[in-house]
Amino acid sequence: MTDQTAPLIDPFQRAISYLRVSVTDRCDFRCVYCMSENMTFLPKKELLTLEELDRMCSTFVRMGVEKLRITGGEPLVRREILTFFQNMSRHLDSGALKELTLTTNGSQLEKFAQPLFDAGVRRINVSLDTLDEKKFADITRWGRLPQVMRGIDAAQKAGLRIKINAVALKGFNEDELFTMAEWCAARDMDLTFIEVMPMGDIGNENRLGQYWKLSDLRETLAEQYTLVDLAERTGGPARYVRLEETGQKIGFITPLTHNFCESCNRVRLTCTGELYMCLGQEDMADLRAPLRDFPTDDRALENAIRAAIALKPKGHDFDYSRQTVEGQVSRHMSHTGG
Ligand code: SAM
Ligand code: SF4
Repeated sequence: MTDQTAPLIDPFQRAISYLRVSVTDRCDFRCVYCMSENMTFLPKKELLTLEELDRMCSTFVRMGVEKLRITGGEPLVRREILTFFQNMSRHLDSGALKELTLTTNGSQLEKFAQPLFDAGVRRINVSLDTLDEKKFADITRWGRLPQVMRGIDAAQKAGLRIKINAVALKGFNEDELFTMAEWCAARDMDLTFIEVMPMGDIGNENRLGQYWKLSDLRETLAEQYTLVDLAERTGGPARYVRLEETGQKIGFITPLTHNFCESCNRVRLTCTGELYMCLGQEDMADLRAPLRDFPTDDRALENAIRAAIALKPKGHDFDYSRQTVEGQVSRHMSHTGG
């Protein structure tokens, strides 16, 4: 009999304390690097209900998860999602959960910022690749920049700390590197650049912008600022520098490199209850079956979670893919939530 309260430790002695949960595969944007224009979304019965999501997340919290990031698709377009946040706040109150947060495109923040703060959310990531209205409409296809700006204003007014995540795209937002850094500094927001990943079968991802190596981006940044490397690590693929002149912190997420796997503390749950142990691999465990088969008893679910964590791979496979073509992971970012 396993100890159901023992912390989740994988075979490489990494404690799993961070769960990212995609609560929907739907989105009100169609970012070119993330989705195709005509997406087929999952039928509703495939999705975990909000009650099931609560049970799932609460089980992980009981097993040692201290940080929960809600993502998607766009998490704030899921109906009644606020209720879910409000219910999760009980784990913040009990002290079991240290952080409840989300990654959002910002489109619904004007409405949700204050209630999210009231539910205990303190920091959020907002994805924003450009400050130019026309370019924003091009890259997101369906998004409108003024709406996101109103959302960011509302979030700051509510007291939420914001980190801006920008996907680095050569020929698209290369010329905005300094403008974005200055804009974030002026608004006291952190800024992180993400290297674009070969995700999904989008086919047209080169329509706007191309792969921009973050080491190149860093060199450009160093032309105007003195970069001080920070030791700070989050257990994820982000590295941080401080700009000596402004004190601003800038992050770089390079998911294609292997240099963060050894400290990986996270797993990802999809909106259908699949647990991905590694963003770069296709291996996953179905947690929906043990959840639905035993509606009032969590033991099967706990055992399935432990069995899954025991299979967490040492590192990812982007460059020497086993089950995929040329390192492409065939699922969309909106499926695993990025
Ligand atoms: N809709 C929310 C948003 O955009 O913030 C949450 C989900 S979105 C999939 C999470 C993050 O993944 C966003 O910051 C987005 O820019 C990033 N992303 C999506 N596709 C990507 C790709 N192919 N390469 C790198 N980052 C990607
Ligand atoms: Fe939607 Fe986020 Fe994907 Fe853009 S990156 S299409 S906002 S899920």
